[in-house]
Amino acid sequence: MGDQKTHFGFETVAEKDKARRVAGVFTSVAGNYDVMNDLMSLGLHRLWKHFTIQISGVREGERVLDVAGGTADLSLAFARKVGSSGQVWLTDINHAMLSRGRDRVTDQGHPLPVAQCDAEKLPFPDAWFDCVTVAFGLRNMTHKDCALAEMRRVLRPGGRLLVLEFSKVWKPLVPAYDFYSFKILPWMGERVAKDAESYRYLAESIRMHPDQETLKGMMEQVGLSRVEYFNLAGGVVALHRGYRI
Ligand code: SAM
Repeated sequence: MGDQKTHFGFETVAEKDKARRVAGVFTSVAGNYDVMNDLMSLGLHRLWKHFTIQISGVREGERVLDVAGGTADLSLAFARKVGSSGQVWLTDINHAMLSRGRDRVTDQGHPLPVAQCDAEKLPFPDAWFDCVTVAFGLRNMTHKDCALAEMRRVLRPGGRLLVLEFSKVWKPLVPAYDFYSFKILPWMGERVAKDAESYRYLAESIRMHPDQETLKGMMEQVGLSRVEYFNLAGGVVALHRGYRI
């Protein structure tokens, strides 16, 4: 177990070191995270998240868990949907990201419950949530299968898991997308955030993430049903949805 290897971007690292390396990235980017998100995606991440909220079907009074919620874009949108009779938990493993998220929800008048936790060991009871979401987080997790199993565990029967993540792009887009990811992104990271390395990791980690069909299979493997996915922006991003039956 101790010498198991995994990926950190294109690097092969010991499994035990990955979480620390990922923590380094998000501690470093936390301060510029929101502005960089808008810049890098040309604002598209807002549309992708809006689509996620629509597809979730979350209604007033429901309980929602935002895993790897970071600066709380999804948590905030869900808080508006569920109203005062519902509940949204903002969670993340990283203190710097979570602090920004917590400050943001409080400033915007939605002081949500917040928990710093690893998606692979969620501190919630079985069958508690109507909906669990993870946006741009799964890619960074060491044991994605454990994290998916945990997310399923905390869903009530009939509840749904939504995974929004970078995915495999439509083939004709690959050359332009590669140029953008490996040249422009690190350059932008250096200019705006003085941190080319973290944005290089972003581009590399996207390439190492399972493609649409593989992730669908992984979700089925942990016991989710009726799993389907929606390609967004030619597969730059995919939204997967599965149900606990
Ligand atoms: N969900 C937010 C969004 O869409 O803007 C933040 C996404 S950010 C790219 C990825 C987040 O995943 C980071 O805040 C990071 O700390 C978190 N993360 C990475 N590994 C995690 C883990 N094992 N458990 C929980 N969160 C994790």
